[in-house]
Amino acid sequence: MRKLCVAGFPLKARLASFLLAFGIVAAGCSQPPAAVAPAAPSGPAEQEIQTGPLTAHIRMLSHDLMEGRAPSTRGGNLAAEYLATQLAAAGIEPAGDGGTYFQQVPIVESVVDRSFTLSVPGAVYRYFDDVVAFSGTEQARVHLQGDVVFVGHGITAPELKWNDYAGVDVKGKWVLVMVNDPPAPPDEPTLFGGNALTYYGRWTYKYEEAARQGAAGAILIHTDESATYPWQVVQASWTGTQYSLPPEAGAPALGIKAWMRNDAARDLVKRGGHDLDQLRAAAVKRGFKAVPLNIRAAATLQQRSSRKTSPNVVGRLRGANEQQAVVFTSHYDHFGTRDPRPGDKPDTDRIFNGAYDNASGCGGLLMIAQAMARAGVKPGRSMLFVFTTAEESGLLGAEYFAQHPTMPMNQLLANINVDGINYLGKTSDIVLLGADRSTLGPMAEAMAKERGRTLGADQHPERGYFFRSDHFPFAKAGVPALSISEPRDFIGPNAAELKKKQEAYNATDYHQPSDEFNPSWDFSGAVDDMRLLAQLAWRIAALSELPRYNDGDQFANVRKRS
Ligand SMILES: [Zn+2]
Repeated sequence: MRKLCVAGFPLKARLASFLLAFGIVAAGCSQPPAAVAPAAPSGPAEQEIQTGPLTAHIRMLSHDLMEGRAPSTRGGNLAAEYLATQLAAAGIEPAGDGGTYFQQVPIVESVVDRSFTLSVPGAVYRYFDDVVAFSGTEQARVHLQGDVVFVGHGITAPELKWNDYAGVDVKGKWVLVMVNDPPAPPDEPTLFGGNALTYYGRWTYKYEEAARQGAAGAILIHTDESATYPWQVVQASWTGTQYSLPPEAGAPALGIKAWMRNDAARDLVKRGGHDLDQLRAAAVKRGFKAVPLNIRAAATLQQRSSRKTSPNVVGRLRGANEQQAVVFTSHYDHFGTRDPRPGDKPDTDRIFNGAYDNASGCGGLLMIAQAMARAGVKPGRSMLFVFTTAEESGLLGAEYFAQHPTMPMNQLLANINVDGINYLGKTSDIVLLGADRSTLGPMAEAMAKERGRTLGADQHPERGYFFRSDHFPFAKAGVPALSISEPRDFIGPNAAELKKKQEAYNATDYHQPSDEFNPSWDFSGAVDDMRLLAQLAWRIAALSELPRYNDGDQFANVRKRS
């Protein structure tokens, strides 16, 4: 019954607007058709979200012709044009720069010279083996010399009464910082999210806070346990070409951002007459005071950097209230095509097709956009569709959009991010990261229930997945955010086998050239998910009260402050 109303309504609305446009409204009709519209049940044209067109989008976006969709490459630009074309075809208007679908994102590409050194009296720490570094600036040569201050976890969290920078001036100095967040003591089991990782524990936060405190350089201490991966991963990730947004004019920036191996950090601290283990033990307790290490460190960094641009693709469907919006995000970039290596065979596949990550999410978002555009009535607020670039380089497209939003961030009701959709068939659950953080969670839960489904929870809160995709820059700006994640509960006799397939894919194909379109993929579960998300966004857009983060959440106070 409800379905019939949803399906039937758009036609009625279209007919009404047709009659209105041509002045064919019966004389004496006191009710203009527009006034009838809101009373009837309405929503996105969910039935338009189908596996056929969804699969077609994913096949095309992950085609070899897209060359792995790296930002600022031919393939990346082709993908952006494809998305813009599909938005236009669906009836979504452009909402990028100057009346186009494109918001151009400046990207700094830099390579640090291996001649980098970090030294203290009596010791030189070697690049790659002991330390890796990059700069928060575009200067060709950065030279830093200053005192080193151990600042524990480097966290300033007034809502938790925690301040590792209390009473210490780090302006122009180096800070030496632990990663992760402090463990929750038995008498305060939810401190810093308990077992879950909070944003205070992420390395990006450490650099951001050090810059806000006026430090000139920051050195993060790598331990295998705190990072959950070995030093080789740091070496691989933070040497070679790096991508970043240009620093905002007037915003604080670190001259040098470094990672240091634990042994080297221990040595540095010892040369200042301290013991790293003792310092770390003191830093897990509230009231910890930062410790000046009585040692000066000097470093010289040389880099080659250049600028590129790559677009976010932005479309809008106007709502009844155009001043506010629900924003969807889905990244279209991936790793491109890698250079040939010695030992490659002539037919070695070097194209990172990124079919699951994230041609699939882009396809899903195109389907949602189309269903919205064909609703026949306007949503309560506008719908923004942002296909972001350079997610794989550090959420750069989303970060840029958050810094240069096409409408004010405090007018965005919610962000729904789609990064990877289910290709393995129907599930009873839908997993939305962030559901436990805001009033969006109970809404999503109720909607899942209506559809005979359940809202699943984040399986690994300690891994901090909430901080690792494009919804995160929105969360940081106080916008309640949800991001669809992998389901657990497949339906049917081969449920266990599908679960195994899912795990195998993560182990062997994630971020590999083998993440390729497979004609046997079954997007029927994803169709259920996209329909649910479309309906959820529609309802959010109709709320009388803005969604908000739960009290005590790390992002609850951002909007209150602004
Ligand atoms: Zn992704």
